[in-house]
Amino acid sequence: MPVCKKCSHHWSWTETVKEIFTITKSMTCPSCKAIQYTSNKSRIVSYLMAIVVIVLILTVGTFLPSPFLPVFSSLLFVLLFLIYPFILSLSNEKPYF
Ligand SMILES: [Zn+2]
Repeated sequence: MPVCKKCSHHWSWTETVKEIFTITKSMTCPSCKAIQYTSNKSRIVSYLMAIVVIVLILTVGTFLPSPFLPVFSSLLFVLLFLIYPFILSLSNEKPYF
């Protein structure tokens, strides 16, 4: 779970998910209200995980009967969403990309 780089507050899963759904790239610490950003390492890991999910859908999905493909794809994206708070780490600085 992410930890605020300013006040060392350990974010809960619920707090993290609420901040993920904000439109802005920054996240506000629920404890000290400091602006936090997704760390570059965390962004890279999440992009790689998204690529793995897409590759799985394109490869495994071709062997599934067509009615199961949307279900399989949805399950993978839900799984990715559920574990994202566990891989998210925060930074005080804006990401490079
Ligand atoms: Zn904080």
